[in-house]
Amino acid sequence: MAIANFEEKLKKYAELVVKVGLNVQPGQKMIVRAMTNTAPLVREIAAVAYQLGSPLVTIVWVDEQVKKIRHQYAPRDSFAEYPAFLLDGIRKEIEEGAAFLQVAGLDPEALKGMDPEAVATSRSTFAKYRKAIGELQGQNAVQWTVVCPPTADWAKHVFPDKDKEEALEMLWEKIFTLCRVDQDDPVAVWQKHLADLAKRRKVLTDKAYTALHLRAPGTDLKVGLPAGHIWAGGGAKSAKNYDFVANIPTEEVFTLPHKDQTEGTVSSSKPLSYFGNMIENFSLTFSKGKVVKLSAERGEDVLRGMVETDDTAGFLGEVALLPHKSPISQSGVVFLNSLYDENASCHLALGSAYKFNLEGGPALSTEEFAKVGGNTSNIHVDFMFGTGELDVDGVKDDGTVEPVMRAGEWAFDV
Ligand code: ZN
Ligand code: ZN
Repeated sequence: MAIANFEEKLKKYAELVVKVGLNVQPGQKMIVRAMTNTAPLVREIAAVAYQLGSPLVTIVWVDEQVKKIRHQYAPRDSFAEYPAFLLDGIRKEIEEGAAFLQVAGLDPEALKGMDPEAVATSRSTFAKYRKAIGELQGQNAVQWTVVCPPTADWAKHVFPDKDKEEALEMLWEKIFTLCRVDQDDPVAVWQKHLADLAKRRKVLTDKAYTALHLRAPGTDLKVGLPAGHIWAGGGAKSAKNYDFVANIPTEEVFTLPHKDQTEGTVSSSKPLSYFGNMIENFSLTFSKGKVVKLSAERGEDVLRGMVETDDTAGFLGEVALLPHKSPISQSGVVFLNSLYDENASCHLALGSAYKFNLEGGPALSTEEFAKVGGNTSNIHVDFMFGTGELDVDGVKDDGTVEPVMRAGEWAFDV
């Protein structure tokens, strides 16, 4: 690796994950599910955790190559088999209070050319066995974090013109910058960044706007917000009241749109990759919350298929704001990975909403949630509309209008 001080930066990245992402406490165990192609980072992470006083850091390794080998040679009817004890073990550790880290090592084409039916069976089998862990994460039962360090296979997709090694270096440099690891004291910088996000989401929640009005070239959209909506983003708190950050990096604050109160047209500002297909330069027109018209320069059929996934896929489930000058947006890179791309610019999501974005929401059934405006669907797909020309207004319940963003930047100080 030709990056100056690579080892030092890797250590800082590991420190950021353990101290800010997970906020591991002295005496607290850690359970990690990691891909083998991220091993150098995972070793640094273990070192930081032990030095902080964690008594046990357990790594459950996943190897993408072995997964591929299974798909090449295993009996065709065997893909519903799963070693349940692995995920049961992770669940048990979480239930007993261990902090939970996922280190994804992307290889976008790991299963390319494999029997799609078998791949689909493996996916749904994994989802079935993982469900209990997902529920614990949804309740923030412990501190948990997802990180996505660069891998050579992924880097080659992001920078297809470069050879693997050069692509990997470029991706590391980008991601060190986006995660603010290239700064002197990344932990302190992150604490300030998280404090800013916390203030911003509090101001917006207290404003209790009834709607947001989004305006940019090609976009004129009113998004209604239900009473009791909560802005989230940045850090969260675990059941034991420890601060943690579920995603590193994270730049957005986001809330719950009222599913029946979206009116107007929004135009995309970045391409959207959906199950390996690209959708580009598209716009969606909403009436009474639902997409009633759509067009795309590329991938219109894919977009239509997505919106028609189920009865509720054409309604909004998230509205997220972040400044155009955020590091991910400025990088100009399409990462082909939602952890990074979702934080690139202001976005909306079609499909499911988050119950935690509503006061008392987590206690509601799906039907009750729908009654107050919360959408539930089989999809949740984020797409970007933010640009340097975006203006956002907040509409108060007496009809007065306040600037929230101007020319892509926050219009209020915190
Ligand atoms: Zn989002
Ligand atoms: Zn989202």
